[in-house]
Amino acid sequence: MEFYLKASLKTSADPAAGKEVIAKIMAEAEQGILSKGAPAGEGAKIKSWGLGDNRIDVELTSGRYVRVHDAAMRLKKALAEGLGKTFKIGIRSIDAEVFTITVASDRDLKNKKIPYVKSVDFKDGQLILTLEVGEAEMRNQVPDRILTLIEDKLEQGDYGAKAEHWNLLWESADKEFLYTNDPTEDMLKKGWLKRGSSRGQWIHGSVSTRLFRMFEQIVFDEILVPLGYDEMIFPKMVMWDVWKHSGHAKGIYPEIYYVCPPKTRDPEYWEDVMDYYKVTHEVPVEMLKDKIGDPIGGMCYAQCPPGWGFFQGETIATESFPILVFDRSGTSHRYESGGIHGIERVDEFHRIELVWLGTKEQVVETTQKLHERYMHIFNDLLDLKWRKAWVTPWFMAQEGIAGVAADEVTGTTDYEAPLPYRGKDGEWLEFQNVSINGEKYPNGFNVKSQSGEKLWSGCSGVGLERWTAVFLAQHGLDPEKWPPEVQKRFGGMPKQVKFL
Ligand code: ATP
Ligand code: ZN
Ligand code: MG
Repeated sequence: MEFYLKASLKTSADPAAGKEVIAKIMAEAEQGILSKGAPAGEGAKIKSWGLGDNRIDVELTSGRYVRVHDAAMRLKKALAEGLGKTFKIGIRSIDAEVFTITVASDRDLKNKKIPYVKSVDFKDGQLILTLEVGEAEMRNQVPDRILTLIEDKLEQGDYGAKAEHWNLLWESADKEFLYTNDPTEDMLKKGWLKRGSSRGQWIHGSVSTRLFRMFEQIVFDEILVPLGYDEMIFPKMVMWDVWKHSGHAKGIYPEIYYVCPPKTRDPEYWEDVMDYYKVTHEVPVEMLKDKIGDPIGGMCYAQCPPGWGFFQGETIATESFPILVFDRSGTSHRYESGGIHGIERVDEFHRIELVWLGTKEQVVETTQKLHERYMHIFNDLLDLKWRKAWVTPWFMAQEGIAGVAADEVTGTTDYEAPLPYRGKDGEWLEFQNVSINGEKYPNGFNVKSQSGEKLWSGCSGVGLERWTAVFLAQHGLDPEKWPPEVQKRFGGMPKQVKFL
């Protein structure tokens, strides 16, 4: 990996007068300012330098340490000091005339549009990126971010061929399934639900709604109340700012529903739209595109990020820890890829999100208790066949990063269950997860503890559609065949609307 920069430092006057001072600074730089902070011999190097009309030209190369743009800044400072005092010559700016980053790679990355990258060439196992950056970008570490981005892309490509990280933690005993239909089909036949007008959206009638509410009540009775979780209401429209802090801004674009406000709420501005509709009975979508503003964010995707605004920038009293809260105040929305047919993978879904925050020990202990409670629910109350697996942490997955966290404590446990209608070797469905997110969120949202101890957090998303899908797929739609504990809590069939 090599950085190369041919820079021109613009001077306020002809630098020739200070040539000796410049020569001395250049001669000493490699051993001095350009190696500070780098392992021995790994600082930036000066390939050549020279003087021109009101400019000092310099060619720099570097590896990972004291990268060329940083080296140019250091030189600028030293030269300004050296020339300012005696010669009253100032350095006005640094122009990057040629800036390249060369990275070893087994493949080309052509056709990728990367900001500040003019061209990407691939030759002899090397990717050569030619950058177009100004001093501000160099100061703001844009070249470093470009390198990270490229390295991530190359690594991701390697990973793409492999299976996603998945490590079995626990599995319940085998079970015989008497019901092997697709429950969504049967629910439709029985009139329990109907398709909504949007993609991946359902209108739940009284029966499936009662099921959702029963599952919610189980979560209340078995987890939230005994473990002392308090309810909060998290926003459901999420602004870019939140996703910048949570990391989602790195990767969720293909999967979010965007939110655009009207450019103005002046009715006159909208009159032509209204008139168009009144005359044609068509909503003029093209016209709307001009009249709405840029997207300000998206609909709730992962439930916890917008809740963090409550703690953002705060120092929290020791007595408040561990903080145990949950949100069930609204829907989550994802633009899912094809294959949406049943209630298990939908674009609009309902989830209870549990969030906990405290010291590492408190977070780990809270997580443990939660796993025990879930185990009790799925084994003793819902009588499910299911398993737990250690997977790529969800926050990494949602940023588009593969692998697992380095510390083996931070990470996500997926809860999965077989859907008998998919056959013996059918894919299991993730119906919820439990994550220890480490310092990620307290750091991302700048939350501190009174004691100064590092804060950790965790979260768990109970997907009501997924619980329902798994439960019905394994037990069928006849309440009389459900486990006794579920029958009791369900409390009998609600009244259903009869359609003629
Ligand atoms: P999958 O791999 O099945 O798409 P995911 O990894 O995208 O799941 P997460 O991002 O971890 O899911 O979301 C947490 C929980 O939210 C899931 O365990 C599930 O209960 C629920 N969930 C996510 N996407 C959907 C969806 N499209 N429909 C219904 N529930 C969902
Ligand atoms: Zn979460
Ligand atoms: Mg998904």
